[in-house]
Amino acid sequence: MRIAIIGTGYVGLVTGACFADIGHEVACVDIDASKIERLRKGEIPFYEPGLDEVVARGLESGRLTVTTDLADAMQGAQFAFICVQTPPREDGSADLSRVEQVARDCAAFIDGYIVVINKSTVPVGSSTHIERIIRERLPENVEFDVASNPEFLREGSCVFDFMHPDRVVIGTTSERAAGALTELYRPLGAPLLVTDPATAEMIKYASNTFLATKISFINAVANICDAVGADVKDVALGMGYDGRIGFEFLKPGPGFGGSCLPKDSRALISLAEQHGYDFHLLRGVLDVNDAQHRVIARKVAKLAGGVDGKTIAIWGISFKPNTDDVRDSPAIAVLKILQSQGAHIRAYDPVVGESVYADLGVERAPGAIEAAEGAHCVLVLTEWNEFRWLDFARLRDVMAMPAVVDARNLLDPHLLRQMGFSYEGVGR
Ligand code: NAD
Repeated sequence: MRIAIIGTGYVGLVTGACFADIGHEVACVDIDASKIERLRKGEIPFYEPGLDEVVARGLESGRLTVTTDLADAMQGAQFAFICVQTPPREDGSADLSRVEQVARDCAAFIDGYIVVINKSTVPVGSSTHIERIIRERLPENVEFDVASNPEFLREGSCVFDFMHPDRVVIGTTSERAAGALTELYRPLGAPLLVTDPATAEMIKYASNTFLATKISFINAVANICDAVGADVKDVALGMGYDGRIGFEFLKPGPGFGGSCLPKDSRALISLAEQHGYDFHLLRGVLDVNDAQHRVIARKVAKLAGGVDGKTIAIWGISFKPNTDDVRDSPAIAVLKILQSQGAHIRAYDPVVGESVYADLGVERAPGAIEAAEGAHCVLVLTEWNEFRWLDFARLRDVMAMPAVVDARNLLDPHLLRQMGFSYEGVGR
């Protein structure tokens, strides 16, 4: 089958490369010419483990092409996937302007039956809206369908997640489109749920905001554990064995972040508001998340004896490990609080690019131990594996005072305390 992917970011590039890998002819298009130029040379524009191999295989086989020319990408395509970003507007609602632009642009190249699939995360009703935009621009006799096909992949394991989805959701009122998409996804062997478009769009928001809710819930429980002397790790374990609850997303930390959970929570609150419903539960989830940044900053101040004029070593800037994505990273939110309180920040992240440090106005260290030289506290903000296996005796010796705030509960508190560190985790 021939597939056009419009928007070659995390979702678009992974979708395109993986479809090419299972034998389809895929053209990925983007308006960012520098991104396409890098891809042509086989460079992946962001850090995503394993994606380089899949993209290289696709490019070499000729099944995957990358272009800035939408006309080229749409030529003979049976499917066009919209994978552009939908950032929040000032009021929290999702900015659909890029999706609308793509719908308008695509319409110019539709001359035979095609399924236009929206993979971007969009408010309920967007499929109908996209269909209207395209229909207005096409002669009556040109057939097409629009479907919603929300994406659930996680940065850091995008390729695995795309190839082994827990489920594939297809939202369309057209049997023809549902049939075509079912065939397209069949090789992945995942459970397939065909719904109306509004339900598919809602499934995406409901899933992401439920995950956000779990994180804020366990963060709140962790804060109570801190106060009463319980261990949240065991609390989460004890909860997780209950099949109704499960183990996932019950890890306390500095709050959720990334390009999806905060933005999708705000978008669902806004959508609810537009329909006269006050989603105060979800507003609470965001409030707990914001407050968690301050909880972590207070732990640092406690161990360092205040942060004004102190050097704080930050380990990890990306919003989670195995990605260089810093969009809405809780690490940055915490770091900014400490900066505003007068701390000097020296940071180390294994993959985040140099420009991020410069934009944040923080000193960049070449490694975790180097970041801690002369520091009054180390603050672990991203659970990169390499932080687990450091030479902690050396760490203790290079610091101005041996103190660690482990906002990811990554390290062994007993070991560190035995070695003379003061240690604070979250809820343990
Ligand atoms: P991204 O910012 O990484 O990529 C979007 C790409 O679209 C960019 O390269 C941009 O240049 C391109 N683009 C914008 N307008 C264009 C146009 N008119 N024509 C061609 N290309 C255009 O975004 P992303 O993280 O891949 O997210 C895309 C969508 O998928 C969002 O709605 C997001 O919420 C959703 N989503 C993201 C993830 C994730 O983990 N990143 C997971 C599931 C769903």
